[in-house]
Amino acid sequence: MRIVLLGAPGAGKGTQCKRIVARYDLLHLSSGDILRQQRTEGTDLGKKAQSYMDSGALVPDEIVVAMMTDAIRKAPDAGFVLDGFPRTVNQAAELDKSLASYHQGIDVVLNLNVDDQVVAERITGRRSCPQCGAVYHIRNMKPKVDEICDNDGTKLIQRPDDSPEVVANRLETYRRQTEAVVDYYKSNRTVYDIDANKNADEVSTLMFEKLEALAKA
Ligand code: ADP
Ligand code: AMP
Repeated sequence: MRIVLLGAPGAGKGTQCKRIVARYDLLHLSSGDILRQQRTEGTDLGKKAQSYMDSGALVPDEIVVAMMTDAIRKAPDAGFVLDGFPRTVNQAAELDKSLASYHQGIDVVLNLNVDDQVVAERITGRRSCPQCGAVYHIRNMKPKVDEICDNDGTKLIQRPDDSPEVVANRLETYRRQTEAVVDYYKSNRTVYDIDANKNADEVSTLMFEKLEALAKA
């Protein structure tokens, strides 16, 4: 199964992708996580991406498309779930072109719909483990011990781009450049809208109902 999960920053894409890959044994490919990893490693790609990420802008298409199509090409036959990519219509078209060149395509597009005030609350309350990448929320999805990762005991951090000023830019970027990706997919295949204002377990149930029905079809 080759799945794209769409939704605003903070909608819950990463949280739900982890559950999808655990259930179906797929590869989770998050463009944001890959870019952050490149920055941690201090690679050329990471250095090029830095200023865009810090300001809440998109990293240029040519950089992200090359990075992601390369990772997708190496994915196992079982498939993958894309999280945070594609984020422009051009990225979506390039992705389709790349997959078509080896006779593949996206099978399922899920769109997590979340109200603006819910997104703001989720994104500003997000805390992440710098060691293993686990994601928590200060009210909705707390770790067992305050500010400490359940998996490895590392102190949790707030992503620098989750500060209120950068979040405002990221949401503006989403509206200006990314929302149109939903229409791109709607114009050539079915997009399954999921009400993602609900709690994480309810959102997972809605998603899995769709995925199970599609797997049986
Ligand atoms: P995205 O990958 O779309 O940016 P995340 O999965 O990181 O979003 O979720 C953003 C924040 O909201 C995290 O702190 C996460 O723990 C929390 N969260 C995710 N899904 C839900 C949900 N359904 N209800 C409440 N909080 C959620
Ligand atoms: P995320 O972790 O998905 O919130 O992404 C964090 C940041 O990485 C974004 O604000 C962008 O600067 C950059 N980024 C992630 N994915 C993409 C993409 N598909 N295209 C361009 N920039 C991206």
